[in-house]
Amino acid sequence: MKCAICGKNMPQDGVMVIDCGTKIEICPKCTSIVEEASRMIKTETMVSKPAHDYLESDELKEALCEECPWNKYHEGYFNYASGAVDPPWHECPADFDFRSDKCAMRDRFFEIVELLAEADQIAGMRKGNKIKGGDTDGSIEL
Ligand SMILES: [Zn+2]
Repeated sequence: MKCAICGKNMPQDGVMVIDCGTKIEICPKCTSIVEEASRMIKTETMVSKPAHDYLESDELKEALCEECPWNKYHEGYFNYASGAVDPPWHECPADFDFRSDKCAMRDRFFEIVELLAEADQIAGMRKGNKIKGGDTDGSIEL
């Protein structure tokens, strides 16, 4: 048996099957390259309008950011001398963008995107809205 990518003979125990429309068999070395590449592919997921609104909602943002280990809370304080008030604020390395690689909740966000896309599918909803930046559309499954 030969690897579908590099054409080299494959070790019996190291055959990987990937499904990208048709099933192909590749060697472990090519598998790691494909894995690496699939991580870099940024796709977009189509969801319905209600799903899109849910994903963009402040409520979801609050729920995810509240659990985030990287979200730093800074206490507000009142400056008696100047009378200025610094309201409490949150610091986030990703600037509250779930699509950012710096977001600790990124994986969970895109898990939710996938679930909603699936829900749209089951409900037969029209998917007219794009959620950009996901890389978990499942088109390459190892
Ligand atoms: Zn190969």
